[in-house]
Amino acid sequence: MELKELWQSALAEIELQVSRPNFITWFKSSHLLDKKDGAALIAVPNNFAKEWIENKYYKTILAAIRNLDDTTKKLEFIVHTNPDTAPKIAEPKSRKLPEPDQPIFSEMRVDPETNLNPRYSLTSFVVGSSNEMAYAAAQAIIKEIGKKYNPLFIHGGVGVGKTHLIQAIGNEIKNLYQNKVRVRYVPSEKFTNEVIWAMRNKRMETIKEKYRLIDVLIIDDIQFIGGKTRTEEEFFHTFNALYENNKQIIISSDRPPKFIPTLEERLRSRFEGGMICDIGYPDYELRVAVLKSKLADKKVNLSPEVVDLIANRVKKNLRELEGVLNRIIFYQQTKNQEITAKLAEQIVGESAQEPMQQKTSPVQVIKAVVDFYEVSSNDLVGRCRKKELVEPRQVAMYLLRDLLDMSFPYIGEKLGKRDHTTAIYAFEKISQEVNKNPGLNNKIMLIKEKLTKS
Ligand code: ADP
Ligand code: MG
Repeated sequence: MELKELWQSALAEIELQVSRPNFITWFKSSHLLDKKDGAALIAVPNNFAKEWIENKYYKTILAAIRNLDDTTKKLEFIVHTNPDTAPKIAEPKSRKLPEPDQPIFSEMRVDPETNLNPRYSLTSFVVGSSNEMAYAAAQAIIKEIGKKYNPLFIHGGVGVGKTHLIQAIGNEIKNLYQNKVRVRYVPSEKFTNEVIWAMRNKRMETIKEKYRLIDVLIIDDIQFIGGKTRTEEEFFHTFNALYENNKQIIISSDRPPKFIPTLEERLRSRFEGGMICDIGYPDYELRVAVLKSKLADKKVNLSPEVVDLIANRVKKNLRELEGVLNRIIFYQQTKNQEITAKLAEQIVGESAQEPMQQKTSPVQVIKAVVDFYEVSSNDLVGRCRKKELVEPRQVAMYLLRDLLDMSFPYIGEKLGKRDHTTAIYAFEKISQEVNKNPGLNNKIMLIKEKLTKS
């Protein structure tokens, strides 16, 4: 089959599967340029379209082409407007193919046994004056598990590095002691859900056994356990059982124990009997150091001027800093723009204005997510836990918070009458993922971009 003919037939098939506006926006000016060694080269009009199509329609296009011609195994995309002068597929050696088989949502990379995300490492944790004490405590624990600082209670504001540090302790212990030490990381929201599930199903014994076999228990955001009587009760027993057997307990919270009003007194005094450290807001030096380390990680270059500008302007916390950095990288990579101090200033400004669009409503945000992922809004608010729905659902929750600063109870309610802790969990999760997963970052940037343009 001729390339042109093949592409026309594939388009006819694609047209049936995507909405009309999406079809016109993304496929109308695309061409099939070449086909060789199982790869098909598709030209799209600009970087923006390339990013969007690669992220969203890779499978659809591949399936449509394969229906007609099953020798095609992979797709490549390039930005090109005139098909007559376009290049052909390069020889195999120099070819860089997208890797659709990699898990896109790196949730799957979480170690099922420990529940740790291996990307949080101690070496990638940059130490500065605001976190050196917590860091030192972490190191002491790794050397002598369960002996020195027990429990270790780390508190600090949003985005200062609590999750990163406590997960890094877990990963480091796992690397050092391998299977000799059983480590488990659990966000308190997850712990709560497990307890509720076990109560309903009369399986409390299973939970008890599971947690009491652990050597290092890491509980993130303990403030969410406070006030849930049965969960607290269960946690207290688990805590005692572990503590009495010299097992290590590591806890994070957004505030010190005495300011968690709903926390039961006996639990509070247990926490206060251990080591309490805080992580403060990062100073300028730490912000610069973190920026440099993230740039090295992502193999991205920015001029010292731009780094200085970002560190000067984005002061709130390290999560926000990474958010701005991701946005800048997105500009650099998908729009091929050189990042000058002036452009960086503008991007920082845009980020700072969030919630950016007074006009943007929650309904528009949800619609943008639904359109992007091509799922129905019923599915989005529904109960189904399929991966294809979990990501859009969590992204929607994340965006409602990130863009519109909606309250967590409101977000939970809006997305299928879910509990506010689910919304918090989704927000935290996506906030973390976005920094580690360029694919997800691009999707979110694209959705935001769509929102600002509509
Ligand atoms: P918290 O749990 O306190 O809200 P996180 O641990 O999620 O904050 O940190 C927010 C982001 O900042 C994460 O992507 C994390 O990797 C990064 N980060 C925080 N502290 C550091 C640090 N000291 N060095 C490098 N990255 C850090
Ligand atoms: Mg956290």
